Amino acid sequence: MKVEVEGLGDVKITDKAIDAIVLNMVYETSYLSNDPRTKIGAMLCDLDLLKRPLGGQIIGGIYGWNHLFEAYRDEEKKEKLKDRAYKHKKITHAEDHAISQANKFYNEGLGISPSKMGLWVLDVPCNGCSDKIIKAKIPRVVTHLPYALLHVDEEYNSLKKKKQNIQKMQNEGIQVLFYPLDVGQKAYMDNQEIDFKALFSH
Ligand SMILES: [Zn+2]
Repeated sequence: MKVEVEGLGDVKITDKAIDAIVLNMVYETSYLSNDPRTKIGAMLCDLDLLKRPLGGQIIGGIYGWNHLFEAYRDEEKKEKLKDRAYKHKKITHAEDHAISQANKFYNEGLGISPSKMGLWVLDVPCNGCSDKIIKAKIPRVVTHLPYALLHVDEEYNSLKKKKQNIQKMQNEGIQVLFYPLDVGQKAYMDNQEIDFKALFSH
């Protein structure tokens, strides 16, 4: 896409550039999570965003983040949360959070249908979220691959399962895009901020 940006002349703005901006915004959003270990952000955004000139425009959307239903101040409970299978049952996922808010707004006559929005999220959606994405008819999902590859040790969240979820969404005609190290390169997991560029550069 070629656009006129005042003062800069013709500037080519690619989908990738917009995806990078949104993924980084989603990364900042992940800090709203009350999960002590892994923070995931998601954003639903009007897909027309990718067709419009970007100059001077603020990218807005509906944000979601993973969050526990209850506060886990108690040390014993915090310890239990290290078991991902246990935690999985106590948490609302970022995609789910964003989709339910988008549906709520849309049902109240505010905003647009999630079926006209893209989803940007910091990890490959789990089985349940993939079903919600399909149900909401979201046509485009953007995530980044290194994060997905780092989460391969748990049964419910194995690489095999992630691939099945991707396949399931693709079978429904959803475009699933992965960006490597140079886009949306940060994530927060296992109590630390991870910079993929540094992690994979040697
Ligand atoms: Zn999920």
